[in-house]
Amino acid sequence: MSTIAWIGLGHMGAPMTANLVAAGHTVRGFDINPAAAAAAEARGVMLVGSIAAALEGADACFTSLPKPEHVRAVYDGADGVWAHADSSTLLMDTSTVDVETSRWCHAESEARGLVFVDAPVSGGTAGAEAHTLTFMLGGEPAAVERARDFVAPMARSVIACGDAGSGIAAKLVNNMMLFIGVMATAEGSQLAEQLGLDPKVFWEVAGVSSGGSWPQRTWYPVPGVIENGSAADNNFDATFSVDLARKDCGLAVQAGEVTGVHLPAATLALSQLDELAARGLGGKDCTLVTLLATPDGTLRGYDPALDTISHA
Ligand code: NAD
Repeated sequence: MSTIAWIGLGHMGAPMTANLVAAGHTVRGFDINPAAAAAAEARGVMLVGSIAAALEGADACFTSLPKPEHVRAVYDGADGVWAHADSSTLLMDTSTVDVETSRWCHAESEARGLVFVDAPVSGGTAGAEAHTLTFMLGGEPAAVERARDFVAPMARSVIACGDAGSGIAAKLVNNMMLFIGVMATAEGSQLAEQLGLDPKVFWEVAGVSSGGSWPQRTWYPVPGVIENGSAADNNFDATFSVDLARKDCGLAVQAGEVTGVHLPAATLALSQLDELAARGLGGKDCTLVTLLATPDGTLRGYDPALDTISHA
């Protein structure tokens, strides 16, 4: 069994570390948010007070951080990963970042004699809980093979995507397709409702028909439809926040600009997410784009007054 350092114990980090602990590994975790850290500790993570302490004697180090700037700061800072990692410690970033940041992590790690693998994930918090995530690995083949063993307790699928940054490239394209799919499900759910269909019946129809998709099966934005609940059953509290979705969609649109690929659907999805953020809803679940499809601007399952209460 291994000792694993884990930086970032949020929506994804907490359940992912719980699965490493369940597999018998020792996980030394660090998060700057005391509430997130405490929740992970309750699930078996050994909390430490710094990145340096997390890395002590670690065979591997995972990062699960919100945005590229957090990843850069955590690797590069004076108290960061590069300052304290040993050459035997395999570094893996599961965060969704831009390709450039990921390649920078590879290059700067290599320059320090360290080994880095980009290891972004798909499957959401439900996949993290159920250890059924897809890992998309990018890097030197030998390092990617080492990474397979560490990610196995959290994964259903592990795919070697190619050299440095290719895991992240696959992830960005996948998520662009996801958020276009979220819009289709959001609009479909409301049109079905207005046409008088029973939501559960329509969900069953779509699930075995050509309108079905991962967001339809997993994130259907109507309360009482998804067996283990979706954000709609929890006032659209985030499982995948609008802000993180904006980041991912924005990175894909940016990649489209760089490569010359036309992305009108992704651009529209991004503008809808931007509109939610402009309304102060960036911390809510990304499936709240459904609110923009309703005839009167109200949405079953979403009561803004409850946000005011919980944030008071
Ligand atoms: P999150 O915001 O819930 O968790 C990130 C955690 O990192 C937070 O607890 C935060 O306090 C911590 N953090 C930030 N800066 C830190 C620092 N300097 N040192 C230590 N901890 C720090 O985000 P999440 O939903 O868990 O997502 C994590 C990453 O995984 C993101 O890049 C996201 O895009 C990606 N992702 C998320 C999902 C999802 O469904 N939530 C799915 C796939 C991929």
